[in-house]
Amino acid sequence: AALREGYERFDPRAYLRNNYLPPRADFSSEEFVVPWKLRCLAETFASGEIRGRTLIDVGSGPTIYQLLSACDHFEEIVATDYLAVNREELGRWARGEPGAFDWSPFIQHVCKIEGRGEPWQDKERRLRERLRRILPIDVHRPDPLGCPLSPPADALLSAFCLEAVSPDRAAFARALLHVGSLLRPGGHALLLGALGESFYLAGPARLPVVPLALSDVRAA
Ligand code: SAH
Repeated sequence: AALREGYERFDPRAYLRNNYLPPRADFSSEEFVVPWKLRCLAETFASGEIRGRTLIDVGSGPTIYQLLSACDHFEEIVATDYLAVNREELGRWARGEPGAFDWSPFIQHVCKIEGRGEPWQDKERRLRERLRRILPIDVHRPDPLGCPLSPPADALLSAFCLEAVSPDRAAFARALLHVGSLLRPGGHALLLGALGESFYLAGPARLPVVPLALSDVRAA
């Protein structure tokens, strides 16, 4: 209940400002968290092994950076979030509406590290075409979407979500189990996040995070 209350004060624009504009979004060195995240994702998808029809991103928030390397390998990307304000922010970007957050520095950086010489506008267009559904989700429900995903996802991605919405390690493990029901048997699950983190900021909201050790994630 306390977590739910915290998320009522979550401000997408403030979250984007705190986490996805300078100083954090500094592309000059991989010492900074944003280029580190993009590198992890680019390397993960570079082998071409993780691919299929559908990828579901759990707890997308107002962000699309996590889909930039993934989108080349799936026909459809399903984004999800608990908050309507985040789903609306994503929709504005997907439709290319004025006032949407400018992800172009991220897209340019990903094209650069992927090293295929692809014009960044092509990647932007491809992600917009493939991002067809933006759905409500609650990872604390055994049935997180309220209905089965059909067909089930070939891959599931979740970035900085499960640890940021779970009050303790047991809840984190249960949330992982719940979202696992969206994935086909043999599909890939990719988690990107921070170990040992205890809170983050989204404007007036200071959101608690359950500090995890690598062993907690592996056990879950
Ligand atoms: N993936 C994004 C956002 C992470 S912030 C990124 O990498 O920056 C955590 C997200 O979890 C927020 O967007 C929040 O709205 C969402 N969230 C909060 N409660 C949730 C719940 N019960 N189930 C799923 N997502 C939830």
